[in-house]
Amino acid sequence: MAMKQTFLGIVLGGTQLTIGEIDEYGKLLKMKDYQTVFFNQESAQDMIISSLHDYETHVGWIGKRPLAMGVGVIGRVDSEKGIWQQIDPARTHPINLARTLQETFSMPCFVDNDVKASTRAVMRWGAGHESNNFIYLYIGTGIAASIVIDGKQIRGAHFNAGEVGHLKVGTRVGMRCACGRTDCVETIASSVGIDRCARMLRNDYPDTNLSIPSNERVKVEDVFRLAKAGDSLCVKLTENATDALADLIMNLVRVTDPDTIILGGEMLEISDYMAHVKAKLQPVTMRFVTRGVVPTRLDAKNIGLIGAGAVAMDGLENQK
Ligand SMILES: [Zn+2]
Repeated sequence: MAMKQTFLGIVLGGTQLTIGEIDEYGKLLKMKDYQTVFFNQESAQDMIISSLHDYETHVGWIGKRPLAMGVGVIGRVDSEKGIWQQIDPARTHPINLARTLQETFSMPCFVDNDVKASTRAVMRWGAGHESNNFIYLYIGTGIAASIVIDGKQIRGAHFNAGEVGHLKVGTRVGMRCACGRTDCVETIASSVGIDRCARMLRNDYPDTNLSIPSNERVKVEDVFRLAKAGDSLCVKLTENATDALADLIMNLVRVTDPDTIILGGEMLEISDYMAHVKAKLQPVTMRFVTRGVVPTRLDAKNIGLIGAGAVAMDGLENQK
């Protein structure tokens, strides 16, 4: 049997770094998680390098060396130049992550934003096969989208297109967002947002049974479970979150006319959440979304890693 051609994927989130090897069909063959703490892009880069050394030594390659590596990171990325522009507006210090990794490991390296990387996986191995006009919507600790129009992923003048978590919709809570505005969808409908809203509103609902620990985040599945039982704080939180997310989806549909909305991110695991959002989508607004609002059929837990593999494959193909 011929030796498999493989690609190395690396995905860096807020608290976790995952490294894995992927075959040319997007199948994840091997992976390892690393806990991370980083304060800026340079320390994140150091973390990636030391973890890669560990991976090479302790996990090792499937066959020969992977053909290329792809990295998905949070924040703004110039994927053509391989430059990681920023983590967030308070941490902006552009570094050439692709070049550094390429030189350190003598392997071609390509970099992209994590949500845009996941969308590349959808384009290559998921619903992108049937659709040239879709929106991939990530709903997890934050909210962001990658928008594909006429088969092209929209990036913008500063690689900042798709930050739809910072759109405001009709829901009003009075929650300040790091972006400077109030009541961005992300502050109401993401897991971090629901946690913050629970803390802000708890005094208005003294009878709540929701546990709000001081040292960890409120569990969104608890919020939805208690809402079902009539807990009024949780009813408020879930109504706000589902209103905001449904409005966001319908607004995006009006802007780019997709035929599919593909959902990804940890919040997908809370089935009540997505069912409630879907129930709030208006048929007339959604009438051209003929392929529906659907969870990604790729492995939702590892879509970022598979996407990083797609970044590596795209990078090599574009070099030719
Ligand atoms: Zn915002």
